Formats: sequence, structure tokens, C-alpha cells
Amino acid sequence: MERVAADKWYAVGHIGDGITAITEPFIQEFYRCNIWHVRGRDRDMLVDSGMGVVSLREWVPLVSERDLIAVASHTHFDHIGCHHEFECRAVHAAEADLLANPTRKNTLADPYVVDEIFDALPPEPYCSKCYAVKKATATRILDDGDIIDLGDRIFEVVHTPGHSPGGIALWEAKTATLFSGDILYDGPLIEDTYHSNAADYFASMERLLRLPARIVHGGHFPSFSGERYRQVISDWLDNKQKSM
Ligand SMILES: [Zn+2]
Ligand SMILES: [Zn+2]
Repeated sequence: MERVAADKWYAVGHIGDGITAITEPFIQEFYRCNIWHVRGRDRDMLVDSGMGVVSLREWVPLVSERDLIAVASHTHFDHIGCHHEFECRAVHAAEADLLANPTRKNTLADPYVVDEIFDALPPEPYCSKCYAVKKATATRILDDGDIIDLGDRIFEVVHTPGHSPGGIALWEAKTATLFSGDILYDGPLIEDTYHSNAADYFASMERLLRLPARIVHGGHFPSFSGERYRQVISDWLDNKQKSM
């Protein structure tokens, strides 16, 4: 398979309101994580950091311009690969051990990472069989209700276990903006990983339904409206209730 040069690996799209979407377009859509950059007055926030197969700091200058907190929505390989490049790293308590001691198994690199998830491979020396996430011990442990303060923007941590035990969403009440991670996006959801939990998933969805979100930026797939958000959650809850 063809390889992509490091300078072509990331795509950067400014989507307004100080938010930038950074993606890895040569990873197939289903496996491609959204990396969100939020500009704050005093510091910036990064929500997730991609697979880590190309340096984010080196190739996306935006993330190294200012003081920045790198938050992990959760610790699957596609979301935390570049966390080790940042000085300030935050994760929910339930996945702090995972961020500090990632393995191919516990990050789901095994079984997901194979050449077939790419349309073109990352630059040398990348190899799917040797791929592993680097350790990035958290410098801040998050819990439900904690605040990430960027100076002029405030994000509340909403613990949303289910997809994984330490999954979080980040809620900005002022703009009704939600970064939802992998618990909810506009595409096929994953509810059956080794540390998924069906009862937690259901409770998280019920809780999310009560948030008056206007715009939602998920862990995968394009962003969507609050209307779509409520529809996707309601449909999901209806389906579960029918099969219960
Ligand atoms: Zn995930
Ligand atoms: Zn993911």
C-alpha cells in the first residue's frame, strides 16, 4: 500500500467559534477519530489526539502555539496516540491507568489496527503489527462535574460510561456545545468492547438526552445539530427498550 508523507497526514478545518477539527483523512471514516482544538483566552484545549502515527505537535502548528490541556474523551488507540506529546494531560479517573499503561489489547489496537483500516499508510517506520500507543501518565484526573477553564470558555466534564468506563463528554453551557466522544456520534456506535457496559450505556444516553445541546462534535463522523442529537438518542433508547 502507498505511504503518505508526514506533512500530508493531517487535515485541519476551522469550523468557527474558535473550534478546529483535525482529522487523519487516510484512515477510513469509521476508524478515523475527530481531534478537536478549542481556542481559549488563557489556554487552549485539545479533545483527543488521534492514532499517534505522525507527530501532531510537529505537523499541526496550531496545537503548539499556546498553553494547552490535552483531554482524552476516553483511551482507545484512535483517541490518545499523541497525548504523550503534551505536557498537560487529562483523563477520567476510570481510565487513568490505561493512559499510563497502554497495551495493544487495552487500547483496542489489537484487534482493530491492521493495514486495511487505511486508504494509504502512515510514513515509515509505521507498521500495523508493531503499532502501539505511547504511555502518557495523566497530570490531571477528571471526575464528573469538573470544570476545564480556558479563561473565557468553561467546559464541564460529563461522565458518560458505557462505550468505555472512563468516557467523558465536555459541555459548554454558554454556547450549548457538546464534545461527545464515542458514546454518541452520527454513525454506527460501538457497544461491545471488552470494557463496554450496557446498563451504563443506557444511563449515559438518558442523561445526554437531558442536555440542551445545539451543536455536537463527536468522536467520529461529522458534527451534527441538537435536533439530530435528540433524534439519534431517542431512537437508540426506543430500540433498546423494545429489545428489553
Ligand atoms: Zn472508543
Ligand atoms: Zn473512537
